[in-house]
This record gives sequence, C-alpha cells and structure tokens, in this order.
Amino acid sequence: MRDASEVKTIKRYEEDAYQAAFDAVIVSVQEAAGGKDGTPCLDVVLDQTCFFPEEGGQSPDKGVIAGMDVVDVRIRGGEIHHVLKMQDAEHPLTEGDRVHGMIDWPHRFSNMQQHSGEHLFSGIVHRRFGFENKGFHLSDREVTLDFDGVIPEDAIREIEQEVNEVIWRNIPSEIRVTTPEERADLVYRSKLDLDGDVRIVTFPGVDSCACCAPHVRRTGEIGVLKVISVINWKGGVRISILCGGRALAYFREAHAIVAQTAGYLTTSPDQIYPQVVRLKEETRRMEAELRKAASEKLIREALLIPDEEEHAAVFAEAADGAAMRAAVSAMTERHSGYCGVFCGSEADGYTFVIGSAKSDCRVISSALKERFGARGGGKPDMVQGFVKASEHDVRSVLAGRAE
Ligand SMILES: [Zn+2]
Repeated sequence: MRDASEVKTIKRYEEDAYQAAFDAVIVSVQEAAGGKDGTPCLDVVLDQTCFFPEEGGQSPDKGVIAGMDVVDVRIRGGEIHHVLKMQDAEHPLTEGDRVHGMIDWPHRFSNMQQHSGEHLFSGIVHRRFGFENKGFHLSDREVTLDFDGVIPEDAIREIEQEVNEVIWRNIPSEIRVTTPEERADLVYRSKLDLDGDVRIVTFPGVDSCACCAPHVRRTGEIGVLKVISVINWKGGVRISILCGGRALAYFREAHAIVAQTAGYLTTSPDQIYPQVVRLKEETRRMEAELRKAASEKLIREALLIPDEEEHAAVFAEAADGAAMRAAVSAMTERHSGYCGVFCGSEADGYTFVIGSAKSDCRVISSALKERFGARGGGKPDMVQGFVKASEHDVRSVLAGRAE
C-alpha cells in the first residue's frame, strides 16, 4: 500500500501555465460518486498534472484525460484528484497505466486573464488605500473581489484606468518559489501567514502576491479589465470585474442590447435613457387617467340604478380600491340596503366593497364566505374582500334571496 501522505502530484501548471497537454502515470484510480445526472465517475490521481484544482477561490480546469471528460479537480494534501466521467460502467484504467491529458485551453487562458487582472486591481487598491482583498471568486459565471474597506466611486474608475494602462505597457510577470529567508525582506500581499516555500507572483512595480494559480506571461495578454459592479459587502465592497475575452463577450452583448433598443426607439444610443424616462412618465400619467376614467365610469353606472331599488350592485372589469369605495359611498346615499361594487370576472373572481347606511354588511360577507368561500371582512358599515362566484349568485346574496 502506498502512503497517501507521501504522494505529491507534480503541478505542471506551476512551472508552465501554457502547457496544455501532458502524459502521466496513474498513481491511484477508484470509482467515485457520480455527477448530478448519476453518471459513474472515476477518481484518478496522477504522478503529474496540468490540471489546476479548485483552489484559492478559483474554479478548476476543464479538459480530457484518457478520453474522458474531467468534471472536477480537487486537491487533498498534496494529492490532486481528477474526477473523470465514465462513458460506460466498465472502466479501463488501472494503477501504473500511462495516460494522456489535455486541459481546455480557452477556458484556462480565460481564467489566467481574469486572475492576473485581479492581481493588478488588488495590488493597486492595496497601494492606494491599504485595503486587503479578503475574498476572491473566479468561476465560469463571475469574478468577484472582496475588499475590507470602501473605495469611492471615482477612485474605482481611476484604478480601472491604471490597471488598463499596466495591461497596455505589457510588462512581464515574474513567478518564483521563495524560502522564508528569501521572503524576509520581500513586500507582498497574502491572505494567510505562510510558512515554508511560497510561490510569489510579481508584476514588477505594480504588485507582489502569494498565489498558487496560473498567470499570464505578460500583462498585454489580459487585454482589458472592466469593472462591472460594486456593492457594499461586510463593511467593505465586493467588486465584479471582467477581463480579456469575457470583457469582449460582455461588451458584445451590451452593445447588441443598446443597438436593438436604440433601433426600436428610433433614437441614438445616448438618447435611450432620457427617452425611456419620458416613456415611463407618460405611462404613469396614462395609468392615472385610466384609473380616473374607470372611477368616473363606476359612479356613472351606480347612478343609473333607480333610487327606489333597496339594494344596489355594480359589476366592473377593473377599478382600484379607492374608486370602488367612492362609488359605494355614492350609492349608500341613495339606497337604504346593501350597496356593492364588484371588480373582476366570473372566471377569475371579484374583489368587492360592500357598504350600507343602515344594515350590518358583515352579514353579507359572512353569507358570501359561507356560500362561496369568500375572503375578507370589515366593519358594519363597510366590508371588503374577494369572492369567486357568478354575478347572478352574488346579486341573490346581496338581495337576501340566497336561501
Ligand atoms: Zn492569485
């Protein structure tokens, strides 16, 4: 039996972030829990790998080993475990086999662009404000940086500008593994107090940071960095960024939306916002007019009911609560019995307001509840609620003809 504590996978990605393909020997292989769809998987440890595992907030590399998709990569102790999706239940791999692996290079390179961009941003924030990056998350969906202090909005724009100028200067990255003695005089950022050998990633003149992840050779490869959002986060800020290809994809999508919206509004992109504000104000004004018209219509209909009727009811498609109450008040001045306004339809049910100058309206809401499972209630002179029943049945209850 091998002693797992002595096994250390050689991390090819630490020596050369640009090596995408490799050959390795299987140190151990065993069946593993399947993915979400229940597909059987293998947990494979190799003597060496180019696959970066999930570490330091960064999601793992994707790719293929021995023709099988790599669905997860995790580090335990010094061992890197590759989870491979099996095509069928019979797995062909055994310890000692030589296998060929290949990482998904576009995915890896995108992660390198994001991660190196993050170092530049965090380094400049640290130099200007002394804030630490307390949390870094790099997944396929997002890149977020959590700082332990609030950075003013104008400073964020300046930092974004400075990062991009460093990108355009195309300075090289320097990566070296240092001993505690070598680090004694070194100024570098680190989330943890580190002993032993530590890998330091430096962009000269900009930032030095302890980091285990693959980085670009020169800053020009990051392409561009764009801040997407800033939110308050645990007394500091969480900043979302996009670099390189992800920034381009975002710009493409945003540009398409702007172009489509400008075309639809037949205006120029810079006029979209003022035009949308005008449209929204216009909509609000028209909604208010509609409400007023609906209220007036309700009262007109209520006034059409002959005065000699004891009870009165109006059925409408739409009206707000205030209009319904106003109509009921107008009706109770002319009819001594129950006066109700019902809004909605037989299919969807009616919201109702029922009032009376002389009788206890709770009698009616109880009758509606008993017969049709209505909801609601109120005071003797006015009840409100919701009922699902036909107009005919509701009128019968109101007129006391329910039984
Ligand atoms: Zn890092």
